[in-house]
Amino acid sequence: MPPPFLPARSKLPDVGTTIFTVMSQLAAEHGAINLSQGFPDFPAPAGLLDRVTHHLQAGHNQYAPMSGLPALRAQIARKTLALYGRAVDPDTEVTVTSGATEALFCAIEAVVQAGDEVLCLDPAYDSYDPAIRLAGGRPVHVPLRQPDFAVDWDRVRAAITPRTRLLILNSPHNPTGAVLSAKDMAALTDMVRGSRLLLLGDEVYEHIIFDSRRHESLLRHPELADRSLVVSSFGKTYHATGWKIGYCVAPAALTREFRRVHQFVQFCVVTPMQWALADFLESDPGHYLELPAFYQAKRDRFCELLAPSRFRFTPSAGTYFQLLDYGAITDEADVAYARRLTIEAGVACIPVSVFCAEPLATPLLRFCFAKDVATLERAAEILCRI
Ligand code: PMP
Ligand code: GLN
Repeated sequence: MPPPFLPARSKLPDVGTTIFTVMSQLAAEHGAINLSQGFPDFPAPAGLLDRVTHHLQAGHNQYAPMSGLPALRAQIARKTLALYGRAVDPDTEVTVTSGATEALFCAIEAVVQAGDEVLCLDPAYDSYDPAIRLAGGRPVHVPLRQPDFAVDWDRVRAAITPRTRLLILNSPHNPTGAVLSAKDMAALTDMVRGSRLLLLGDEVYEHIIFDSRRHESLLRHPELADRSLVVSSFGKTYHATGWKIGYCVAPAALTREFRRVHQFVQFCVVTPMQWALADFLESDPGHYLELPAFYQAKRDRFCELLAPSRFRFTPSAGTYFQLLDYGAITDEADVAYARRLTIEAGVACIPVSVFCAEPLATPLLRFCFAKDVATLERAAEILCRI
């Protein structure tokens, strides 16, 4: 019998350790090349790191304001206007968070009431579902269309009930690399018009988008932006995933609710990094404009190296992930095969089924190509021998 002071029931009984931790640990234990958890193996921009050192030494080491440093919120507002044409008030519509993870969690806790339904499009990033359930909501998983992982708007529409409160959209999409188009935004606008549906945009890969596609931020579309909480992450943009700094842009009424939660989840975000990001956004606004070309070269190199392999793939449209279909190699389940690849071949990846409520039509693994070319070459050489 467990001691009586332990909880009788878990609040998340079917949740284990996240796949990112599991696969990164396995990669470390077996000395495998880690293309599983998404993070770069190259440094953040030197100019940004210099600003961190400066602000640490300048004594910017106490609590920042709860909603974020004003200078950083101002830069986020400036960027939102420059990129998406949306004028947002940095004081009432922008909140700096401890990564996108915290922003997503706070957004969901802020707007989902007990019994509300929340639509997630599968494969769905793994933090959405538990956050919805902790808020007392019910996640409703709608599969993306296969094999291109486009949104099937008829299916989404069919899943809406009078209890549906929120739709979570992620573009560019992790893990598939799919990207929403202008046509999708038109279908979405049509679908939500006149409804009480709110939108949560997970746009952490907003700058990692290829082949001249345009990122269709919810913030570009006034009718959508008026009912949206939009989340991004400096971790992705500045090759600094370990900093865990992100933000949420939302109309004042939604931001008010968002901050009610944020102030008790995190209160405020690490101060010297916020100063450094504010400086760098001001001095180097071009950095993120170069990211599409920077990552597209890595995607192209990785795909070129894998062309002779037995894996099948369509080059990713965005994010720093490439899906590989291994159906021609084995009929093993993806979780088992990802483990075996890590342990026996020495390349770690992420099995895609863990992000899905229903089985996938094809067996898929996700590989992160945010790596130096030498790392990609070593990994591809192994994958081509399989
Ligand atoms: N959403 C998606 C789709 C992600 O891929 C990630 C992290 N890779 C996050 C949210 C979380 O971002 P952060 O590390 O800034 O918390
Ligand atoms: N978002 C990253 C990925 O998709 C991992 C984040 C995490 O480890 N929680 O790989």
